[in-house]
Amino acid sequence: GSHVMKRYVVQQKLGSGSFGTAYLVTDLKDRESQKVIKRIPCNTMRGDATLPSAREAKLLGNLRHPSIVQFFGSFLEKKDFCIVTEYCEGGDLHCYIQEQKERGENFIEGHVMEWFIQLLLGVNYLHERLVLHRDLKTKNIFLKDGILKIGDFGVSRILAPSDMATTITGTACYMSPEVFSNTGYNTKSDIWSLGCILYEMCSLACAFDCPRWIKLVSLIVNGPSPTLPPKYSAELNDILQRMLMKNPELRPSAKEILQFPYVTHRGQVLS
Ligand code: ADP
Ligand code: MG
Repeated sequence: GSHVMKRYVVQQKLGSGSFGTAYLVTDLKDRESQKVIKRIPCNTMRGDATLPSAREAKLLGNLRHPSIVQFFGSFLEKKDFCIVTEYCEGGDLHCYIQEQKERGENFIEGHVMEWFIQLLLGVNYLHERLVLHRDLKTKNIFLKDGILKIGDFGVSRILAPSDMATTITGTACYMSPEVFSNTGYNTKSDIWSLGCILYEMCSLACAFDCPRWIKLVSLIVNGPSPTLPPKYSAELNDILQRMLMKNPELRPSAKEILQFPYVTHRGQVLS
C-alpha cells in the first residue's frame, strides 16, 4: 500500500453506489477511530478534477455541525479519488425507513419532528454559508447516536457525473421542478428535496415516484403535491405543501421553517 493507505486499515466494505465504493476503516493516526473512505475512480470525474477538488475539500473540511457528516479530507490513491468522512454506525435513512415499512408501522409525529428539525438545522447551516447540497435524499442521510446527519455532498460537489442517466436514476425523485426547466439550482431546490424526505419519513414511500422518466418529470413539474397520511397533523402537512410549491420563490427557507410556531414549539419541547 501507499503512504496514505498505511494510515487507514480497511475493516469492511460498506457498499457501492453510483460513484464508487465506501469502506469502513480504522484511522491509525487518530486514536484508531473508525472512519469511512469513499473511493471514486478518477474517470468518473471532471476533466481536471484535482484542482477544483482541492478547493472543494477545503470548503467541506471547514463545515462543522452535529447534523452534517464530518468531512476529514481527500487524497489521490492510485487512480482513485478518496474522501475521508465520519462513520455513522446507524446506516442510512433509506434503509431505516425500509425496515419500518416492513414492520408495517409509521413513525410517530414526535419522532418525525425531531428528525426534521435536525435536518433543518443542518440545511440552514449549509445555506447560511451559501453551500448547496444538490443531492439530498434518504440514501444520503445517516444515523449516528440516534441523530440524523446529512452526508455525501462531498461527492455531488466535487464530481461531475460522466453519465447523467446513471446518476439521475437514484436521485430524480427528489429533484425540483426548476431543475428540469433550466432556471438553475438554488437553496430552494434543497428545500424541495427536504420536503420529499419529510414526506418519505411520514409515508414510508417516495413523494414522487414513477419508473418512467418522462412521467416522473411531468409529475414533478405539473402533478399535484402528495399529502401526508391522516395520522399526521394539519400543521405538518401544511409545512410540506409549502416546501413543495412549484415556484421556488414561494418555498420557505430552512431558517423560516425553523421559525414556524409549530416547529419552534416542538424545538422547545425537544431541547
Ligand atoms: P450510494 O450511491 O448508494 O449513496 P455510497 O457509495 O454513498 O452509495 O454508499 C455505499 C454504502 O455505504 C451505503 O450502504 C451507505 O449507507 C454506506 N455509507 C456511505 N457513507 C457512510 C457513512 N459515512 N457512514 C456509514 N455508512 C456509510
Ligand atoms: Mg451515498
